[in-house]
Amino acid sequence: MRVKTMYKNLYLKKGKEESLERFHPWIFSGAIHHIEGEPEEGEVVRVLTSEGDFIAVGHWQIGSIAVRVLDFEDKAVDGAYWEDRLRVAYDLRCAIGVAGHEKGNDTYRLVHGEGDCLPGLVVDVYGKTAVMQAHSVGMHVARHEIARALVAVTGGTVENVYYKSETTLPFKAELGQENGFIVGGSTENVAVENGLKFHIDWLKGQKTGFFVDQRDNRSLLEHYAHGRAVLNMFCYTGGFSVYAMRGGATLVHSVDSSAKAIDLTRANVELNFPGDARHEAYAEDAFKYLDAMGDQYDLIILDPPAFAKHKDALRQALKGYARLNAKAFSKIKPGGILFTFSCSQVVSKDHFRTAVFTAAAQSGRRVRILHQLHQPADHPVNIYHPEGEYLKGLVLYVE
Ligand code: SAH
Repeated sequence: MRVKTMYKNLYLKKGKEESLERFHPWIFSGAIHHIEGEPEEGEVVRVLTSEGDFIAVGHWQIGSIAVRVLDFEDKAVDGAYWEDRLRVAYDLRCAIGVAGHEKGNDTYRLVHGEGDCLPGLVVDVYGKTAVMQAHSVGMHVARHEIARALVAVTGGTVENVYYKSETTLPFKAELGQENGFIVGGSTENVAVENGLKFHIDWLKGQKTGFFVDQRDNRSLLEHYAHGRAVLNMFCYTGGFSVYAMRGGATLVHSVDSSAKAIDLTRANVELNFPGDARHEAYAEDAFKYLDAMGDQYDLIILDPPAFAKHKDALRQALKGYARLNAKAFSKIKPGGILFTFSCSQVVSKDHFRTAVFTAAAQSGRRVRILHQLHQPADHPVNIYHPEGEYLKGLVLYVE
């Protein structure tokens, strides 16, 4: 039943409702016939077929993706709406065992955009602080309502909301957005993941400050670390390094081209294993380091930044993955284990596997796939939006 709302009506061109009937949450600008009135960017609009039948409500924005669908029911998008949606997201995290009153873990992704039917919104929780990123103008406009709902649904565990959208919002929108707290203002920034402590630099760090998406893969790495000499390439905050140390690695070398990342890694190792001489960190380029190193490692992690951000960059990216992995295959000790990842959304699981296959074949080594990895359950993929799948990895045994 229609709730009376003041939202402007947007009419689609004939036949353009097809993908929406399959619950895909995006409407491209080319699909629009006309809009009644002139909505401001970030306004909620009602989407109707060419026949005038209601189909969805969503956030309007100027750009190729013109509407991000919030709901396929004719609803008001108000404070109660955000609470409902965020409660579903929070319950899901409690169900998978990362949120609530879980012992030893207060680090998780609470909202993963389309994966939580909240396109344009990302929220990561670090202890008592949630870091929120808007990727759409609509989510920016609703940020205060969303922040209030966040505090309400997390049962008192989240007390602060830091808003970090300076670099994620479309620059054309001229929103003059600055990063900062919109609820609370704690400087406490140590969060716990599976019993390990991490300094989270949400102020200056990449994304929301930490790569929550590797949690399960870091746990698997811990399982393999005992007695091994580990190289954590592209270490950023040192997540894999700290798990490797707890797993009983004989030595752990962390490498990242960013000196700041190396400082963060050292601080996180020190926080968990003070004065432990097994760890060393180097600020160096990955390719240079791999060329210069010897064959001392029997567990190597390669978790590079996205090599392809757009479809056009795909071919080059695949070459990059092949070149990088070939270096690891040529140096890893016999009986070694390679954890290799791609977080490029445009690189499919098959693409990535082919690139790694090419690298393995070049080395001539016998290579077996032990595990095929992906993003964790708190980064869910909406079945109607397969584009939400981005992280893939392989664990390989190299003879
Ligand atoms: N593995 C990390 C996330 C890696 S993010 C984790 O679990 O949290 C990618 C990292 O690669 C960034 O920290 C970036 O500084 C680093 N990087 C980018 N280009 C690099 C290069 N050419 N050599 C070494 N590190 C690089």
